[in-house]
Amino acid sequence: MEDEIIEDNEVTRCICENQDYPGPPIVEDGAEDLSEDAGSLFIQCDQCSVWQHGGCVGIMDDTMTPENYYCEQCRPDFHELKENSLG
Ligand SMILES: [Zn+2]
Ligand SMILES: [Zn+2]
Repeated sequence: MEDEIIEDNEVTRCICENQDYPGPPIVEDGAEDLSEDAGSLFIQCDQCSVWQHGGCVGIMDDTMTPENYYCEQCRPDFHELKENSLG
């Protein structure tokens, strides 16, 4: 029996539609203290297991990573709340 197929479901499907993080939005002030780590932070949806760029969903830092993260397709409300709280 060689039935055991290990599914590789680690897919990157970010809201920016890029595989690679395109970088943070351009800041008019020219802030220089943006963390370089932001570009390499990925976060995985707890439900569908897709990976998204932390910087694209407002998570710039490991410390901002929620215990349970859901992508915008699994939990649209999760993302709406975030947008509203930005003011
Ligand atoms: Zn992205
Ligand atoms: Zn998802």
